[in-house]
Amino acid sequence: MGWAGVKALVLEAVGQIAVRRLPVPEPPAGWALVRVAWCGVCGSDMPRMFTKGAHRMPLVCGHEFAGVVAALGQGGQGVAVGDRVAVFPLIWCGACAACEAGAYVQCEAYDYLGSRRDGGFAEYVVAPVRNLLSVPSGADLAAAAMLEPAAVALHALRGCGAPLVGSDVAVFGAGPIGLLTAQWARIMGAARVIISDVVDARLETAADLGFRCLVNPSRQSAADHIQEITQGAGVAVAVEAAGVPQTLLAAIRSAGRGGRVVLLGNPSSDVTVPATLLSRVMRQEIVLCGTWNSTYSVHGGADDWRAAMAAIASGALITEPLVSHRASLDEAPDLLWAVQNRTVVASKVLLGAPLEPALLGREGIEP
Ligand SMILES: [Zn+2]
Ligand SMILES: [Zn+2]
Repeated sequence: MGWAGVKALVLEAVGQIAVRRLPVPEPPAGWALVRVAWCGVCGSDMPRMFTKGAHRMPLVCGHEFAGVVAALGQGGQGVAVGDRVAVFPLIWCGACAACEAGAYVQCEAYDYLGSRRDGGFAEYVVAPVRNLLSVPSGADLAAAAMLEPAAVALHALRGCGAPLVGSDVAVFGAGPIGLLTAQWARIMGAARVIISDVVDARLETAADLGFRCLVNPSRQSAADHIQEITQGAGVAVAVEAAGVPQTLLAAIRSAGRGGRVVLLGNPSSDVTVPATLLSRVMRQEIVLCGTWNSTYSVHGGADDWRAAMAAIASGALITEPLVSHRASLDEAPDLLWAVQNRTVVASKVLLGAPLEPALLGREGIEP
């Protein structure tokens, strides 16, 4: 039928991305071949593709994806061909102390779809069956592709250890991860959620999601505004979700006594913290909390992924307004370059296409 392999967006070298045809990946025993519907472009994919490079190249990037099971390797149990699935992108070794404790994201010898091995900017990808989470009927595959950042945002708030019910929470950075975090804070019972961003369009998206306390620090100091509306008490939790020095400093300035400052955004550069601010951290016993990835359980235990899937499927967590662009793999190089060069302002970019039921057979993949 003239089928020439799997279409994929390949990172060949730093700044070199091209649509190529790759051989159909063969799922090993216990693995599945997944037809990708949508794969989100993560903030970390941009430096990976355009400035820093990946662990190995050529590489197919993309770790935020959902699709349909197209084939199973030997012994793949618990899913069936045709199932709609989201994919936990971290492949843990299963043999180290962290894995033994079920703390897969702390695995000492992990592999990773989209950063260490081929990921979701492709028509097909192979993943272990134990990494597949079935998508309930309430969620479409575009929403399910947002599951990874949704789980990461939830993990950030759960991990900081602060009670959220009735508390004020500030989120610095209204990109997809910031707006997911803000929604989780609201779901978890926060009294007020204050969102800060220098881009008005992102604040408008926050407003569309029903948030009312919005501040643009290019016009008004976010920390001052927060101290003002909290009558000097500061917030219980300040989440840094932009990864720039100004937002980290503003987050520290906004935290109240005993407050938590959550480091969620990938740092883009060194940060110098003024001594007066460090002194405030000490005197007010403010806690700086790192957060990393999310929890995932193979045995169906309570984890960030299942909680996020349930919230998406029920409509409690809204993902659609966070998606600014959808593009096919063929359109991806031009769009991603435009985002990189800032000629296009994007929030979440999804690469892929809606899956038609007949697609699998037509492409020649035998179920
Ligand atoms: Zn990511
Ligand atoms: Zn391990």
